[in-house]
Amino acid sequence: MIPIARPQLGAEEEAAVLRVLSSGMLAQGTQVALFEQRFAQICQVREAVAVSSGTSALLLALLAHEIGPGDEVITTPFSFAATANAIRLVGATPVFVDIEADSYNLNPALVEAAITERTKAIMPVHLYGNPCDLPRLQMIALAYGLVIIEDACQAHAAAIDGQPVGSFGTGCFSFYPTKNMTTGEGGIVTTNDTEVAERVRLWRNHGQKERYRHLSIGYNLRMTELQAAIGVVQAEKLEQFTEQRIANATALTRHLHDVVLTPMVHPGYRHVYHQYTIRVPKYDQRDRWVEQLRARGIGTAIHYPCVIHQQPAYREVEGSYRIGDMAEAQQVRDMHLPVAEEAACQVLSLPVHPGVTRDDVMTIVREVQALCR
Ligand SMILES: *Cc1c(COP(=O)(O)O)cnc(C)c1O
Repeated sequence: MIPIARPQLGAEEEAAVLRVLSSGMLAQGTQVALFEQRFAQICQVREAVAVSSGTSALLLALLAHEIGPGDEVITTPFSFAATANAIRLVGATPVFVDIEADSYNLNPALVEAAITERTKAIMPVHLYGNPCDLPRLQMIALAYGLVIIEDACQAHAAAIDGQPVGSFGTGCFSFYPTKNMTTGEGGIVTTNDTEVAERVRLWRNHGQKERYRHLSIGYNLRMTELQAAIGVVQAEKLEQFTEQRIANATALTRHLHDVVLTPMVHPGYRHVYHQYTIRVPKYDQRDRWVEQLRARGIGTAIHYPCVIHQQPAYREVEGSYRIGDMAEAQQVRDMHLPVAEEAACQVLSLPVHPGVTRDDVMTIVREVQALCR
C-alpha cells in the first residue's frame, strides 16, 4: 500500500527523545528554546513561540491580537474546521468568503465586500501548502487597518518570491504527524512583532512571565521538551523533505496527461505540496476512484469533503458565522459559496510525501490515467 501520509522519523529523532528523557527536564527547557530559534530562522522572522498544536497556535494568535466577542474575522470555508473553530473559540465571528477555483485559496477579489466596521483580521489558509495571494491580501489589510493571521499549518517552508509564509502576518503552523514536519502533536506562532510574541507567551503559560506572578489569565498550551527535541531534528530535515515533495509533485503533474485539473501554482510561489490534489471531473465518480485506487494499493484522501459552513456545528448554530457576500447569501439559502462547495465535491488527494518513491509515482500515474479513460 502507498499510504496517503507517513511521518518520516528515524534514529536521530529517537536519540533526541532519549536524551530528553534521561535529562529529567521535560517541560519548557533548552529544546523548546532551540526549536523556536530554528523555526524562526526557517520563517525569517524575529520571534517564534512553540505551543501544543496548530489549533493552539491559531487560538493564541487571535488572543494576542486581542480579537474577541463582537469582532469579525474573514476566512475561507474550504479548510480543516480548526481554522474557523479558533475564531469562534475566542468569541469572534468567522465571515466566510469564497475561494479561487484554481488555487482553492481565499479569493482576494471578494474580501473587500465582506469587510464591516467589526472586521479585525483576515485569516487565510495556505491550503495544501500552496501560498495564498498574500501580496493582495496585505494591500487590503493595510487599507482597512486589519491584521493578517496566516493559517500556515500545511505550508512549512512555502514562500512567495523567496519570502517564507508565516512572515507576512502572524503565522500559525502545526506539527501533527501528517504535516510536512512533525513533533507528534505541536504548533508554533511566528511573528516580527515582539509584543504579539510576548502576549502569545503569556497566554500559553497562565499569564506568567515569572513563576507564580500572573500578569493575565491564560492557558497551559505549552510544547514539551520531548516534542521540541523531535522538532529540532525535523527542522533540520525540512528542506530535504520539501524538495522530495516538490520532485514527486512535478513528476505526477508531468505524467498525469489525462487529468485536466492538476495543481496550479502562481509564478514565484513555492508550493510545498502538503497535499497533491486533483479534481475528479465527474464527481459522482469520486467514490469509485477512491475504491479502485485502494484496490490497486494506492491510498487517497479527500481534503475536505464538506465546507465548514455546512458542518452541523455551524449550520445548526444560529449566528455562529456570517457569509461574506450578503447578496449571494440572500438569494440562495443552501448554496452560499459555490466555488468552495463544488471543490468539496470534486477534490481528491494522491500520495506525494517524501516516502513516495519514483516507482510509486509511476504506479500512481498508471492507475489514475487508467481511470481517466
Ligand atoms: C492541521 C491543521 C490545523 C490544526 O492543527 P493541529 O495541530 O491538528 O491542531 C489547522 N488548520 C489547518 C489548515 C490544518 O491543516
